[in-house]
Amino acid sequence: MLRYRAIQTPAERDNKKLITRILDQIYKLKSGYSMPVLGLGTWELTGKTCEKIVNKALDLGYRHIDTAELYRNENEIGKAIRNFDRSQLFITSKVSSSNLRTYDLLEACKASLGRLGTDYLDLYLIHWPNDAIGLEQTMKGMQKLVAEGRVRRIGVSNFDVRRMEKAMSVSQQPICNNQVEYHPFRARRKIPEFCEKHGISVTAYCPLARGKVLKDAALQRIAKKYGKTPAQISLLWLLEKGAIVIPKAGSQEHLKENIDLDGCELSGEDIEAINSLGPARKLVDTTYT
Ligand code: NAP
Repeated sequence: MLRYRAIQTPAERDNKKLITRILDQIYKLKSGYSMPVLGLGTWELTGKTCEKIVNKALDLGYRHIDTAELYRNENEIGKAIRNFDRSQLFITSKVSSSNLRTYDLLEACKASLGRLGTDYLDLYLIHWPNDAIGLEQTMKGMQKLVAEGRVRRIGVSNFDVRRMEKAMSVSQQPICNNQVEYHPFRARRKIPEFCEKHGISVTAYCPLARGKVLKDAALQRIAKKYGKTPAQISLLWLLEKGAIVIPKAGSQEHLKENIDLDGCELSGEDIEAINSLGPARKLVDTTYT
């Protein structure tokens, strides 16, 4: 059975209550809200395919969807969730780094909400830092969005510790999440440690290293041992580390496989083996994190 470190409530942890279904697991955010630990990544899912995949994901029980204004798929996601109980969903979107001035941020959020056909976002992230625009301006806009109920909670993406500290110091709202590249070839220490200390969740993007985990001999060997695939092992490893995972999938098979994680717990030895898979290989070109 899975026994995730950071995703259990303190009461569950004390009772050593074991977790059964990955899709029911939530990460309690500092703000008191919670977010499902597994979501659907949607980068490169566009048009009818996006709508179809999001529909399939919802049928399978996914309730957390990750998008961004940059992905140009908010319209299609909006269509897919149209007849769904909004209160059961967790939707994250991200504002582009060119829209971080107060007015631009408010307009960008309004446009995202319009495309998604919803009154609010569960989580709104700054997609990338932009040092040319003062974070005070961005956070002023975020504060207004939260005050008006258009955004439930706010966060950042691709922020290093220094930028997170800055964001926290100028924000009236708690920074609840940092979404960063995180997978077995890009193991993280500093950011998760900092986030854990400050009650901030970490979302692992590219959790399958964009498919590269499939070809790794060590992950293949570990996967065989558990009767799982390297993709599943990568997700299990991240979940064990307390990260939230948002694998993108373009087929029903992959959607299913990525949630078929229940009842598998990696041994300490295997977690260690994956920890030391390095050297660090970045997939996304960022000088920030
Ligand atoms: P990823 O989720 O690591 O990998 C996606 C790739 O893995 C696709 O080619 C997919 O193929 C394949 N795949 C999915 N499930 C599989 C399985 N079970 N077995 C084998 N292959 C499988 O990469 P990503 O899409 O870049 O990252 C995930 C999400 O993170 C994005 O979609 C996006 O929402 C977010 N993201 C955020 C940022 C940021 O700056 N904040 C940057 C990058 C990504 P198929 O499509 O054929 O299923």
